[in-house]
Amino acid sequence: MNSSRFERTFVLPHLEIVDIVKKKGIWRFFLKTQRRPMVCLRCASICKKIYDQRNIKLRDEKIRNFHVILHVQKKRYWCKSCKRPQTETLDGVLPGKRTTQRYKRWIMKLCESYSCLEDVRREAKCSKDFVYKAYYEQLDLESRKRRNPWPKVIGIDEHSFKRRRGYGGTEFASMIVDHKNKKVIEVVEGKTTAALDHSLAYIPGASNVEVATLDMCDSFRGFVKKHFPNAQIVADKFHVLRLLNHSINRVRKEITGDRRTLRVRRLLMRSRKNLSYEDKRELDCFLSYHPRLEELYEWKERLHSFYRVRGYFRAKEAFLFMLDEMSRSRSPEIIRLRKTLQKWNVEILNYFKHRYTNARVEGFNNVAKTIKKRGYGFRSFKNYRLRVLNACF
Ligand SMILES: [Zn+2]
Repeated sequence: MNSSRFERTFVLPHLEIVDIVKKKGIWRFFLKTQRRPMVCLRCASICKKIYDQRNIKLRDEKIRNFHVILHVQKKRYWCKSCKRPQTETLDGVLPGKRTTQRYKRWIMKLCESYSCLEDVRREAKCSKDFVYKAYYEQLDLESRKRRNPWPKVIGIDEHSFKRRRGYGGTEFASMIVDHKNKKVIEVVEGKTTAALDHSLAYIPGASNVEVATLDMCDSFRGFVKKHFPNAQIVADKFHVLRLLNHSINRVRKEITGDRRTLRVRRLLMRSRKNLSYEDKRELDCFLSYHPRLEELYEWKERLHSFYRVRGYFRAKEAFLFMLDEMSRSRSPEIIRLRKTLQKWNVEILNYFKHRYTNARVEGFNNVAKTIKKRGYGFRSFKNYRLRVLNACF
């Protein structure tokens, strides 16, 4: 049958169509391989002599509404040097498998567009186990294609992966993001320096990294200092601004109780710059009765105005001045804040050199959360990692 274009479109390469049978919604392609010299997989010598033939059945991607089964007559060649027969390999089919790679890729696409595994199973007419296996196998292949050396600017953050069963606690996953190309480089189980070191050792080009953004977490800082010799660390702006929020909320709760509809609650958290005149007056009136809260609020606003400074040297001056003034405060929250700021002073000031924040990483954390919800949680970290990597690139 001379249907080369048809063959090229629907059938695997190097196969000839002998017959096509359409019956009960299934297309059966009867195919045979073309005769060609084959390289022996054991000794790499070329085999030309045909030994015998074998028939195999392969599942393939659906065409229109028809399921497709390929009946292939494969040849076995005689290897003169090994003195053993050697089965030929088919392009597009892994050795020993009964499905084409095209079929598995199609299943991956189905898994991404359907929300329910049962629907995929029905559409592809295979077992649930197979859907599961094929999907993660393909995701793994896809993620391997995208392995690149380290980029110039990275961001690191952690998010909860799952709750531990029985004895409580949370397991964490850390995400490493490429800021410039807007994608996730790797997801690591755990958030310790050792875990990161172990899982990221395979990526080449650690000296490429020039800037790394982090929230203020010691283990990440330790990792970056150890792993990337040329990197400057930038402490995330929003994490610094948030340092006092917890204390403000705690003190405010002591005064007003924890009523969700309370207006002051919102006003205290927002940046004063964005408040209207009436809001400011209302807030000031409230604060004038509560001097302890007022002090915390003022320091929070000082942090906000510190981040509005432009230029590294001006920021450095403002920072040192702020620390000096803080040292006069008696409030335990401010003393603690001062310690934290001192501990992270280099990283905080680096923001004014590079102006990167961790916002993109937090955005990807959100994507990861959606994936977790869609899968009703994950038991296997390996699968979770593949899903996140394929959603964020
Ligand atoms: Zn051989």
